Amino acid sequence: MLNIEQIRSLPKALLHDHLDGGLRPATVAQLADELGYAGLPASGSQNLARWFKEASDSGSLESYLETFVHTVAVMQTAAAIERVAFECAEDLANDGVVYAEIRFAPELHQSKGLSLDEIVEAVVAGFARGEKEMAAQGKKIVMRTLLTAMRTAARSSEIAELSIRWRERGVVGFDIAGKEAGFPPSRHLDAFDLIHRANFHMTIHAGEAFGLPSIWEAVQVCGADRLGHGVRIIDDITKNADGSFELGELAHYVRDRRVPLELCPVSNVHTGAAKNIAEHPITTLTKLGFRATVNTDNRLMSQTSMSTEMYLLHTEAGFTIENLRWLTINAMKSAFIPFDQRLDIINNVVKPGYAKAISEFN
Ligand SMILES: [Zn+2]
Repeated sequence: MLNIEQIRSLPKALLHDHLDGGLRPATVAQLADELGYAGLPASGSQNLARWFKEASDSGSLESYLETFVHTVAVMQTAAAIERVAFECAEDLANDGVVYAEIRFAPELHQSKGLSLDEIVEAVVAGFARGEKEMAAQGKKIVMRTLLTAMRTAARSSEIAELSIRWRERGVVGFDIAGKEAGFPPSRHLDAFDLIHRANFHMTIHAGEAFGLPSIWEAVQVCGADRLGHGVRIIDDITKNADGSFELGELAHYVRDRRVPLELCPVSNVHTGAAKNIAEHPITTLTKLGFRATVNTDNRLMSQTSMSTEMYLLHTEAGFTIENLRWLTINAMKSAFIPFDQRLDIINNVVKPGYAKAISEFN
């Protein structure tokens, strides 16, 4: 059995992580002080950390989303946003992450008057500073950005254009997130059309709380390159009495076309989309060869990290180090950076890192 420190030393790739879901509790408290935000539900970083965990562990996606009111409230100046982005790079690199695509919704950071471009600029600057500082410490990480539009709002075309405008400066894709109930992704077809016409990339939050119709719509109507979560694809898979599996048409399509699933096991347990890690669909989806990846979603709310996710898969769901390597290579294959850059990280960082670990740990 591997321990958490051994898992931390493995190279990891992260495709689904929200910038406003990964703040350090101490940073939330400090920024609230600096910005004069009096709305925090608890004081002191330990109490705050506990509050975030409890509020997000309630079993409903709606109350989980409420916790973001407070993190977003303290990310309203360029300096605060740059700091949060920098610390994100630092925390991920210290956790052994070598490649990350971090997403955030620029439209949520305008309450003190920042323009959308100023917000993206602050995030990109924080990531660049993090990359530089961590490389100097021998912990090289590549930080890229996805811009999220809120499915409950009507600014998706504007955000799609913003992501395309920043494509040469660290933004590698577009995303839609927020409450699924009553807000189908097909409300945002204009935005997806802009992305497709620009030969750009997108992922859509689908198949988390909602089931197959939302996955079908994201893939077949909206043309998503990846599925944010997509875990409910399991509903289209039947287990026979003899232990074999039968895939429905949509499950076949998603697997056979290698549509990446940005699975987030701990987050799913918190929001009630899965009962526990041992019974999380990631095990079956891995067995059936779906393009499964493992992700953190919201490190603060779920008190998780890439090492925690992998450690739980290892100890509670029986994932071997070879399975963890497979998940990591899947993530790198599914990244939105150019193919040659993906190959470079797979061949020169991920594979040698795992080869070394396998010979040392086994
Ligand atoms: Zn998410």
